[in-house]
Amino acid sequence: MSKKCNIAVIPGDGIGPEITSAAIEVLEAAAKSRDVEIFTRELLAGGAAIDRYGIPLPQETISGAMDSDAVLLGAVGGPKWDNVEPDIRPERALLGLRSGLGLYANIRPAVVYDELVAASPLKNPGKIDFVIVRELTGGIYFGKNGIYQSGDRLSDGTVKGKIAFDTESYSEGEINRILKIAFDLAMKRRKKLTLVDKANVLTTSRMWRALASQMSFDYPEVEFDCLYIDNAAMQLISRPSTFDVIVTSNLFGDILSDEAGQIVGSVGMLPSASVGVKGKPGMFEPIHGSAPDIAGQNKANPLGSILSAAMMMRMIFGEEEIASDIENAVKKTLSAGLRTGDITFVGEGNNTTLVGTKEITKAVIDNLSISN
Ligand code: NAD
Repeated sequence: MSKKCNIAVIPGDGIGPEITSAAIEVLEAAAKSRDVEIFTRELLAGGAAIDRYGIPLPQETISGAMDSDAVLLGAVGGPKWDNVEPDIRPERALLGLRSGLGLYANIRPAVVYDELVAASPLKNPGKIDFVIVRELTGGIYFGKNGIYQSGDRLSDGTVKGKIAFDTESYSEGEINRILKIAFDLAMKRRKKLTLVDKANVLTTSRMWRALASQMSFDYPEVEFDCLYIDNAAMQLISRPSTFDVIVTSNLFGDILSDEAGQIVGSVGMLPSASVGVKGKPGMFEPIHGSAPDIAGQNKANPLGSILSAAMMMRMIFGEEEIASDIENAVKKTLSAGLRTGDITFVGEGNNTTLVGTKEITKAVIDNLSISN
């Protein structure tokens, strides 16, 4: 009997529907040749849900996601909803899905394909292949915040006026569970883990550092080191190929993973996985946003979404062969010179062909059958 995979698809806004349908097409083709059945159910979130229900994350979407084995998300947001009340902004759907599904670990691989070395803004990027493990449901994005009025004055006499504050807090439990994911991942890779923090200033960072150092004794084979966030931002540019697994807090991970996206050339190429509580579905999505500037024009690069589907097959369904089939088909497509606009570069000569979302998706599917 063939294996069944129940996937909730949340296309979202902007280019979300184009790239998720590309990923599902590729996934269905790859699964078919490995005797695996893909069942999908489409759900609304973000601006699309605001238009229909007046809120960005309807209960039906949370329940539908919970009932699935895994969620494939496009992206949410866009200028149409920029002026809605803060409480119902499209991005609220992301926070709601992450906390609703208990997704506390965001795993973002950053790989430079040989074919796309010209895409990296770095002169000699070397062999870049690292993963950022970002804590996703704690820290400053979820801490106490607010605004209050103060009658006090600054040292030069200026009235303070309103004071806005956000709070960073982390519990030992929150830190230890994400550290364990990072150490375990390092064991499966090149056995190197870097903790990024700001332990010279922040109390929370000092707790991260103490707990990580302690846990490193349980993983004697893993080479463990620590970097301050400001230094890490520089080192990622100067020696990106030396990193293997990086683990960090929600805020620092948010910033560093966008830097990683730029290092590898285009955010359109990068997949991600969010996982957490055992027994609840994981969520898979490209790292980019809804790209409203190119939505509906057949210009979006679907490879980040297609590679997210491959990650899902490997991490949730244990379908290593399907994941590798998809990844190899993407490499073959790039080797054949097919490029969407975001990965087309001056100086590549006549060896590349500019194509649209649909054409590059079809090429990946055609290359799947060659892989098998
Ligand atoms: P963005 O990632 O959507 O776009 C940045 C630039 O990269 C744009 O020029 C865009 O055309 C290009 N780009 C992005 N993905 C691409 C792809 N697959 N192929 C080709 N080009 C691509 O970031 P932004 O412009 O800052 O945000 C647009 C909207 O997306 C905002 O509403 C923002 O809040 C939202 N957003 C959502 C998510 C998410 O859903 N996870 C993440 C980031 C931003």
